[in-house]
Amino acid sequence: MSILVLNSGSSSLKFALLDPESGEVGLSGLAERLGTPEAAVRLERGGERQTRTLAGGSYAEAFGVLLTELAAFGLRDAVSAVGHRIVHGGERFSAPVRLTPEVLDAVRACIPLAPLHNPANLAGVEAAQRAFPELPHVGVFDTAFHQTMPPVAYRYAVPEAWYREHGVRRYGFHGTSHAYVAERAAELLGRPLAELRLVTAHLGNGSSVCAVDGGKSVDSSMGLTPLEGLVMGTRSGDLDPGLHEYVAGQTGLALGGVMRALNKESGLLGLSGLTNDMRELEAAAEGGHAGARLALDVFVYRLARYVAAMGVALGRIDALVFTGGIGENSALVRSRTLERLGLLGFGVDEAANARTVRGEAGHISAQGRVPVLVVPTNEELMIARQTAQVVAEAGQE
Ligand code: ADP
Repeated sequence: MSILVLNSGSSSLKFALLDPESGEVGLSGLAERLGTPEAAVRLERGGERQTRTLAGGSYAEAFGVLLTELAAFGLRDAVSAVGHRIVHGGERFSAPVRLTPEVLDAVRACIPLAPLHNPANLAGVEAAQRAFPELPHVGVFDTAFHQTMPPVAYRYAVPEAWYREHGVRRYGFHGTSHAYVAERAAELLGRPLAELRLVTAHLGNGSSVCAVDGGKSVDSSMGLTPLEGLVMGTRSGDLDPGLHEYVAGQTGLALGGVMRALNKESGLLGLSGLTNDMRELEAAAEGGHAGARLALDVFVYRLARYVAAMGVALGRIDALVFTGGIGENSALVRSRTLERLGLLGFGVDEAANARTVRGEAGHISAQGRVPVLVVPTNEELMIARQTAQVVAEAGQE
């Protein structure tokens, strides 16, 4: 049994065909820069990699490459279901669900909450349903894991009608990743997830921390949209809501322009004036670049502040988990964050920290300190497992 997992973005398509039990990947690929002349898809099968340029650069063309490759390797008939990553499920979805026409209408109703992501996700579902009309399609929502947050964590102090009539509240994202690494952390700690209070830090281009109590999300640093919280690659994270009006007045930018700058030109890129890429920033900081140093400092400071804040949601912290491209690879960010968290009992084992990179999982905390783990995330596997589970449950009914 193989599950095809699709993550359809506005300019990208990530896919993987995998066995939900063993995690074995039959074929995977990433199409990027769709809609531009540089569009290309990178494919991987059995350790072999190849890149195809996409002459037209469209999503449909990238999807066509996926279908051709599946057929060429004789994998088409092995696909038993398709799992789709969907960013925003609003308050309606707290678990993965079969994508029926009625469910798709509900996902469409969430478009105003995620105007960039949900339309791209839906376009992916439509393409896949056309290509695989006989198969079950399942939606796995980034927000679903956080639907267990209590009102104290998810309500904003704004007029109640905004919540009631327009769904203005905190939702949280990266749920699939936080849920996966929390489960893996419990295995690595050799303790039942049900008795653990964990802080998970997913640090990639987008970043968020989550408080996980007994396997359930009780708080997240992301809010109504993925803009809230930590400093990210190009997103600002937290700021004063009064800033929008002030900046618009000073610069002449309309609200849309301010929002664009906060999403695309801020974060590590904005602070450093150099790059949104942590690896490049680390090299530049090492070379003495003042902007790169500041960007790293603010990133680490905000992260440490949020880990401490998650302690309030949990009452105690049994372990801290790092994941995502930065969390899995940047020994520097981890070490500096733990340095700032000494008051909560954290301390780093520098040797263990330095060698836990590039997909390694392991403990990086100093002896006698609060456990800190690095756990490579695997959102594709989590989506495949949840898809298989929804299909199996439907079969039993
Ligand atoms: P996405 O959120 O798009 O999935 P990733 O999880 O792949 O992104 O994370 C990308 C980030 O991880 C980039 O900032 C990149 O520089 C950073 N990263 C990857 N490898 C390293 C490394 N060896 N050291 C520091 N940062 C790294």
